[in-house]
Amino acid sequence: MNSFLMPEFETLRASSLYCQRCQKAMPVRERLLLVLPLKEIYDYLCTGCASSLGQREVSLGDLKMTRRAHR
Ligand SMILES: [Zn+2]
Repeated sequence: MNSFLMPEFETLRASSLYCQRCQKAMPVRERLLLVLPLKEIYDYLCTGCASSLGQREVSLGDLKMTRRAHR
């Protein structure tokens, strides 16, 4: 049983994470948590109990690529 392993936040791309309160993998909702000059930090919230399951940092370089792709 690998259910109790923590997710690897470095490669955090999945739309569901293991929630300790729900005791199973739950779909997560991404929320903009903090905006810094060089990066933005997003918070992953469990859709079942609304607890924070992880965070993701987006560097300015990624944002520039996203905006260029959007155009
Ligand atoms: Zn939960």
